[in-house]
Amino acid sequence: MSKHYDYIAIGGGSGGIASINRAGMHGAKVALVEANELGGTCVNVGCVPKKVMWHGAQLMDEMKLYAEDYGISYSDMQVNYSKLVLNREKYIDRLHTVYKKGLDSNGVDLIKGFAKFVDNHTIEVNGEQYTADHILIATGGYPERPNIPGQEYGIDSDGFFALTELPKRVAIIGAGYIAVELAGVTHGLGADTHLFVRRNAPLRTFDSIISEGLVETMEREGATLHTHSIPKKVEKNEDDSLTIYFEDGSSHTTDTIIWAIGRKPNTANLNLEATDVELNPEGYIKVDEYQNTNVDGIHSIGDVTGRIELTPVAIAAGRRLSERLFNGKTNEKLDYTNIPSVIFSHPPIGTIGFTEEEAIEKYGSENIKIYQTKFTSMHSAITKNRQRTYMKLVCYGKEEKVIGLHGLGNGMDEMLQGFAVAIKMGATKADFDNTVAIHPTGAEEFVTMR
Ligand code: FAD
Ligand code: NDP
Repeated sequence: MSKHYDYIAIGGGSGGIASINRAGMHGAKVALVEANELGGTCVNVGCVPKKVMWHGAQLMDEMKLYAEDYGISYSDMQVNYSKLVLNREKYIDRLHTVYKKGLDSNGVDLIKGFAKFVDNHTIEVNGEQYTADHILIATGGYPERPNIPGQEYGIDSDGFFALTELPKRVAIIGAGYIAVELAGVTHGLGADTHLFVRRNAPLRTFDSIISEGLVETMEREGATLHTHSIPKKVEKNEDDSLTIYFEDGSSHTTDTIIWAIGRKPNTANLNLEATDVELNPEGYIKVDEYQNTNVDGIHSIGDVTGRIELTPVAIAAGRRLSERLFNGKTNEKLDYTNIPSVIFSHPPIGTIGFTEEEAIEKYGSENIKIYQTKFTSMHSAITKNRQRTYMKLVCYGKEEKVIGLHGLGNGMDEMLQGFAVAIKMGATKADFDNTVAIHPTGAEEFVTMR
């Protein structure tokens, strides 16, 4: 006999937990299946441990770059890495408890184990079968590795968070969010860090001011950047060091290699062959704008759908889906435009909406007006190490609607959210100009650009 629910979510990560809690709040009979710890990628091997490490690296960076000129002296500054990791993991344990309490208070049955489909309406976990009117696939993704000899000697972002000692030398391969963030963390904490990108720059698909600003900043104070470096093979040496060989004939020897070349959807363990669920050509679960798959009663959200792979996106899509299914809001869905995002580099990067390049391609350069500025941020103005802030507004049409906002600089992570509200509401450059500045801040430049 199988047990029947109104709604079962497979995957207790950002999206699954948010969606199932919301359905439970509306009185649905609900269950969540999770194979590992609650919280998924974000809590266990993503946003949360990353942000803790970012804070640690930021503290070290600030001391190294600015303390002396502020008249602050220190001797023998070094990180006790295992203590940092221990405190980070204790915090994550507390979050597991918070998540479990949340599920309990919303009447969610937690089923621990791997879910496999038996048919379009039935799943199996640990040999038990469960049926539901609605099943949510929110199984997230996993780090990709290159298909080259010796790749197994490297680790990925999951492996990075398992380290209890900081390697002396780190090589990071990749050019996206994770590569840039982890390079900033290991460099800031004191490892000799080299970032290898296969093309001309990291974050090359972001607005040019971001990519260029990041390269300039890395040259002055960041990890060592190597461009046009396509990895060919990795060899382990007698002293346990690793040598990575590149297609141009160059090589680099290090202690730890971190692959950060993208992520793949978690679909292989679901036995989707037993269902009629279709994947898109890249292997992600195909969904419509309402997060419906092609099978009635099977829905999907988050990283496994390959849209914008961010925690708040998975949460927002999951909650809206439950509002639609269990609270009568028949047209509820997530608007995937103007989603703000921060890359926790050193200093951080913030981005919303169209890049200059995308805007020109879509609307033509005659309809796009760009405002931009580069300046020394005040927190470094009295120090030898001048750190620059880069900002750009992309405006469209006669009324100069702000359709893109991009920045790299001290405090960019915390300044972005409010601007995201303004842009979502359709703010124009005139609205920005009419807003009185807050002085002295970096953020004020966004409302005073000429
Ligand atoms: P996940 O959180 O991955 O959850 C999926 C869950 O499904 C997992 O717990 C998994 O164990 C479970 N599962 C898989 N298969 C099965 C099965 N068959 N049965 C049962 N359970 C199963 N996003 C941000 O917004 N900000 C950040 O700063 C940020 N930093 C990141 C840093 C790193 C290093 C990484 C890797 C990601 C980061 N992200 C960040 C992205 C963010 O973590 C993801 O977008 C988010 O976790 C996606 O949520 P999800 O619910 O789709 O999947
Ligand atoms: P990304 O997709 O962001 O970047 C991976 C990049 O690596 C590619 O864009 C590509 O850049 C490069 N690459 C791909 N294949 C290879 C290869 N074989 N050899 C060398 N380089 C290669 O993936 P990430 O893993 O960095 O992150 C996954 C997602 O997780 C992000 O897109 C983001 O949505 C989310 N995330 C969000 C964070 C946040 O919000 N702060 C932090 C971390 C992750 P190119 O083509 O230029 O070479």
